[in-house]
Amino acid sequence: MHLIFLGPPACGKGTQAAILKKEHGYYHLSTGDLIRKEVTAETELGRKLKVCIETGALGASEIVNELLKKDVENHRQMGILFDGYPRKQDQAEFLDSVIKENGSVLKRVFYFDIDANELYKRILGRITCNDCSIVYNLQTNPPKEEGICDCCKGQLVRRNDDNESVLKNRIQSFFEETAPLKGFYQKRGILTVINAIAPVELVTEQIISAL
Ligand SMILES: [Zn+2]
Repeated sequence: MHLIFLGPPACGKGTQAAILKKEHGYYHLSTGDLIRKEVTAETELGRKLKVCIETGALGASEIVNELLKKDVENHRQMGILFDGYPRKQDQAEFLDSVIKENGSVLKRVFYFDIDANELYKRILGRITCNDCSIVYNLQTNPPKEEGICDCCKGQLVRRNDDNESVLKNRIQSFFEETAPLKGFYQKRGILTVINAIAPVELVTEQIISAL
C-alpha cells in the first residue's frame, strides 16, 4: 500500500514524510536522497546526475527510473512513500508498472497545495544550525531564540548550498511539469489535496485522516 507526495520544493513534504516514517512505519523513498547517494559514491550514474542537479534540470528520466525501480524492489515488503517522484507523466506511468510488477497498489496521492510566492518567501527564510545541521524556517518553523539552535545552542546561518536560482528553476518546473499529474490521479479517485500553508500539525492531520 504505497503513497505519493506531490509538491514543490519547500512545501513541507519532507517534514511530513519524516513524520509518516516515524509514526506509521513507511519507507521514505526520496529520489533526491537516492540521487545524492549515487553522486557521493561517484558512480557513472552519479556523474551524469551531478550535471542535472547543477542545472536544476529534471531530465535524465531513464537514470532516475533505474534508481527508483531498484529501490522499490529492495523495499517491496513495506509501505512506500514516494517523495520527489513521479515528476512527469511518463514517470507516473513507469511507477504504475513498477508497483504492479511488485504486486502492490498505489493507495493515495497527496498534492501539497501552495503558491509560488509563498515558496519563495520560505526559501529566503531557511536557516541551518552550524553545529547539528537542523534546518529552521523563519516563516514556518522559527527557533525559540533568534539566531540560536533550540537543540544544541549552535549558531544559525543561511546555508550556501541553498542556491536560490536552482530552487527557483525547480519550483517553476514543478508547476509546469509535475502539477498537471494532479488531474491524472484525480481521475482515478486517489487524489487528496492538502492545504500546505497550514501549520505542520494541521498538515499531518489532513494526511492521516485521508489514509
Ligand atoms: Zn543545532
